[in-house]
Amino acid sequence: MLLWVAGAAIGILVAFILIFKYTKTGKNDVIGFSSKCPKCGQVTNGLKCSKCEPNLKDWR
Ligand SMILES: [Zn+2]
Repeated sequence: MLLWVAGAAIGILVAFILIFKYTKTGKNDVIGFSSKCPKCGQVTNGLKCSKCEPNLKDWR
């Protein structure tokens, strides 16, 4: 019974976060895991942005 309540609470929390991200980021980022940098718009494929993260080791 307690496990069911915890699962429901987590489900509601995840839905709330997704809705919050959707309303915050806009229509281009539906899930929240955008392949582009939210700051400069460069395509990063989910990785850190090379422009906004200058401390990357594999700098090309
Ligand atoms: Zn960036």
